[in-house]
Amino acid sequence: MNADLFVRIAQIQANIPNHVKLIAVSKQVPATAIRAAYTAGIRDFGENRVQEAIAKQAELADLEDITWHLIGNLQANKAKKALTHFQWIHSVDNLKLAQKLDSLAGELNLCPSICLQVKILPDPNKFGWHLDQLYADLPHLDRCKNLQIQGLMTIPPLGLDEAQTQDVFNRTRELAQAIASQSWERIKMTELSMGMSGDYQAAIQAGATMVRIGTSIFGRRNKG
Ligand SMILES: *Cc1c(COP(=O)(O)O)cnc(C)c1O
Repeated sequence: MNADLFVRIAQIQANIPNHVKLIAVSKQVPATAIRAAYTAGIRDFGENRVQEAIAKQAELADLEDITWHLIGNLQANKAKKALTHFQWIHSVDNLKLAQKLDSLAGELNLCPSICLQVKILPDPNKFGWHLDQLYADLPHLDRCKNLQIQGLMTIPPLGLDEAQTQDVFNRTRELAQAIASQSWERIKMTELSMGMSGDYQAAIQAGATMVRIGTSIFGRRNKG
C-alpha cells in the first residue's frame, strides 16, 4: 500500500513544475498515511477541519518540519486554535475573520501566512469573497499588520467543463495581478492556491503556485 502511495506521489510530482508547491490534502486520512507521505518526501499537508488536524498533529509531533495548511472554512470560534496549529490559512473569506486572526496573531506573537479565498463565479456551495466586497475590504486588509497576506485561493464551482474551469483559474490570476498593481503596503499577491486532483493541470497553466491534492495521492475519501 505504501508502494502505491510512493508511486502516486512521484507521478504527481513529475507533473508539477518545481516552483509549484504540492500540498497533500490529508483530510479524513489517518496519521499513518500522512507519515508514509512524509517518508515519500511530502512536507506540506492540507486539512479542512481544525479539530481533526490537531488530533493527527499530536500523533505526528516528531515530524517537526511539516508545514500545516488549513484549507477548509474557518469559524471565528476556532480562529485561535487555527493560528496555533497551522502556519498557513488558505480559507480566509471575510474581513471580520481576517481582523480577528490579525488581533489574535498579535496577542500570540505569530505572523501567519494567509490566502484570501475568492469566488469568481456565484456558487452557493463555496465560501469566498465576492469581488466587489473584496475590493471594498482591501484597504482594511492592508492594515492587518500581523497577517502575511500572500495571495488568493479559489475553488471552482462543481460541474464546470474544462474551458469554464480554466476560465475561473485565469480570472483568479488576473484578479491577483489587478490587486498587485494597486501597490498595497502589506498585501502581497505572489501566491495562487488553486487546483485539486481533477483540475490541477489547468490551475498550473493559469499560474497556480500551490496545488491542493488529496484523492490522487491518498485515494478516494468517504465524502467531502
Ligand atoms: C478536499 C479539498 C481538496 C482536495 O481535493 P481532491 O479532489 O481530493 O484532490 C483541495 N482543496 C480543498 C479546499 C479541499 O477541501
